[in-house]
Amino acid sequence: MHTRQPLIIGVTGGIGSGKTAATDAFAALGITVVDADLVSRDVVQPGQPALAAIAEHFGRTILLAEGNLNRKALREIIFREPAAKQWLEALLHPLIRQAIISRLQQSDSAYTLLSSPLLLETDQQTLCSRVLVIDAPESLQLERTVVRDNSSPDTIKAIMASQFSRQQRLDKADDIIVNDGDLLALHNAVQTLHKTYLDMSKTDSHE
Ligand code: ATP
Repeated sequence: MHTRQPLIIGVTGGIGSGKTAATDAFAALGITVVDADLVSRDVVQPGQPALAAIAEHFGRTILLAEGNLNRKALREIIFREPAAKQWLEALLHPLIRQAIISRLQQSDSAYTLLSSPLLLETDQQTLCSRVLVIDAPESLQLERTVVRDNSSPDTIKAIMASQFSRQQRLDKADDIIVNDGDLLALHNAVQTLHKTYLDMSKTDSHE
């Protein structure tokens, strides 16, 4: 019997580009969205082996009173110490990848989205049939994120500098949504691509 490869669309974009706004619109059309950010939080929940390993490596001061990971403290350590960042990534990336794979396998929608800010910077892209980039001018990324997070422009600029550039991302894209209009325009772009992906999911052309 011939079984068709599932169609998996990797969705990425810089901070504040509109990944969540776009994937929410796909989800409203019945498409399963696996969010790599959420998965990366799940693997360090209390009771998970990764959290125990982190507490052993960095000391129990890395935990909050209720036993949850102090993400802010950890972020500050890995910002200062490249070796700590390397250690953490070596621990977490394979676990995150495994958890993503299992969620992708559980999906029963016509195609599935894997949304990840670091899709192209990590090996997560290899799990996908195609890459959809949500693209926005940097000035808009900054403006939207400052409003959403109430952060300083300098903080957002530093995060933008640590990510792939707009052009690096576009170079890897199979599909692009330019999110420089209002939310209605974004929803229309999602509708159009949804039809394309439904057609693709019925053929083997994405294999
Ligand atoms: P992050 O990488 O930080 O998670 P993101 O790419 O998921 O960001 P969103 O959270 O979807 O970005 O969008 C950033 C902010 O901009 C949100 O408050 C969102 O509602 C708003 N936004 C996104 N697209 C539009 C749009 N076309 N019109 C108006 N507001 C938008």
